[in-house]
Amino acid sequence: MEIKEMRCPNCNAEIEIDDGFDTFFCKYCGRKIILADMSDANINAKVKLKQMVNERIQKKLMAASIS
Ligand SMILES: [Zn+2]
Repeated sequence: MEIKEMRCPNCNAEIEIDDGFDTFFCKYCGRKIILADMSDANINAKVKLKQMVNERIQKKLMAASIS
């Protein structure tokens, strides 16, 4: 499972989020973080991360099919 990094809107600490979940708790301040409530910038970052993960998976698949 891929781990992503985002920042807590409450304490600005870096938080790790598991792909496939929409709700997280900041391990520093305990704030509940709902991805749907995040700012546009954070949503854009999330979309970019998803694209990066997809590209990585595609590269892995290509490498696997070559060997
Ligand atoms: Zn926090």
